[in-house]
Amino acid sequence: MCAATADSIMIRVGVNGYGTIGKRVADGIRLQPDMQLIGVAKTRPNFEAETAIQKGYSLYSAIPERSHQFAEAGLDLHGEVGDLVAESDVIVDATPSGVGAENCSLYKQHETPAILQGGESPETVDESFVAQVNYNDAVGAELLRVVSCNTTGLSRLLEPIDREYGVEKARATLIRRGGDPGETTRGPINDILPDPVTLPSHHGPDVQTIFPDVDIDTLGVTVPSTLMHLHSVNLTLDTAPSVQAVADLLSRQSRLFVVPAELSIDGTAKLKEFAKDAGRPRGDLWENCLWEESIAIEGNDLYLFQSIHQEANVVPENIDAIRALVGRKTAAESIALTNDRLGMSTTQPYAKSQQHSTSQPADD
Ligand code: NAD
Repeated sequence: MCAATADSIMIRVGVNGYGTIGKRVADGIRLQPDMQLIGVAKTRPNFEAETAIQKGYSLYSAIPERSHQFAEAGLDLHGEVGDLVAESDVIVDATPSGVGAENCSLYKQHETPAILQGGESPETVDESFVAQVNYNDAVGAELLRVVSCNTTGLSRLLEPIDREYGVEKARATLIRRGGDPGETTRGPINDILPDPVTLPSHHGPDVQTIFPDVDIDTLGVTVPSTLMHLHSVNLTLDTAPSVQAVADLLSRQSRLFVVPAELSIDGTAKLKEFAKDAGRPRGDLWENCLWEESIAIEGNDLYLFQSIHQEANVVPENIDAIRALVGRKTAAESIALTNDRLGMSTTQPYAKSQQHSTSQPADD
């Protein structure tokens, strides 16, 4: 029998925090051929704990003092969060902002590298991460942060444009959803908020954790929608390309979906409807969605609109971050594998997701 090579050994992954992001990352991990989902940690028994068990995920108690609540609800626990951390090669922490930083001592105690999310401050971690930009910097880190949905979306756009044409100055107004669909206490429900009213919003400095040298100003607005964010972007370039050249460049990026005019998708509601019709799980859009018709060049200034599905676009980055932490695969290999297993495509999400639905692993 052949000895197992390092590359054939499954990466054991635990997910601590099983909410909007955590449950999507757990589902994505389960689709990867080189990863084993050890389990997910929940603070309390609820519908998400129920569905985790129905999917066959081992459930761990995130707060040991509350473990009895799971038994009272008739839900079997596999252990407590410390057990999950000990059994995992990597932890994805998808707890609410600030909780991830508090959890770091537990991860360090078990010498288990961890991936935090965009709600944590960059100072908490060794590196902030966007796969196509700085995958190699993450290799061997103890603590990594997958940056927020908005920062991920801006970084994915900036990388190819800066590489190809040079970005002298970036300006973006981020029109942000008031809350996720499941968040019943968020708002506004009848208002449009400059948020923050002062310049800059935190997104510009956050982008600089990925591109330290980029000159970027961001403004934030919050609106009564739960569907997606919309970015109005203006990039002043070193050299002026044609609109067609920009559209072609962006179309070649595997995590950008350039929305063609012929689909008659006029906004975020139809984008989400398209994703649901295409059979995407939860109607998720892992790609930035850029309207092809919005791409405009005036002198050296590039303008466009893109939308970001806040619940979904950091999922592929978390999966790549797992491989980066343990030094498995190159960035290109990991991105290609993640994209393929999730069912992403640059130009035809519908065709790709149909094809993918017949090629999932047998245990799915
Ligand atoms: P969420 O509230 O939907 O999920 C967080 C989960 O963690 C909940 O199930 C909560 O019960 C659980 N939790 C609370 N305390 C815990 C603890 N001590 N141990 C384990 N679990 C605990 O939050 P979310 O939207 O998934 O956000 C998680 C992180 O991802 C945050 O840093 C957030 O900023 C970031 N993020 C969120 C979005 C988004 O739009 N939802 C997008 C990108 C990044």
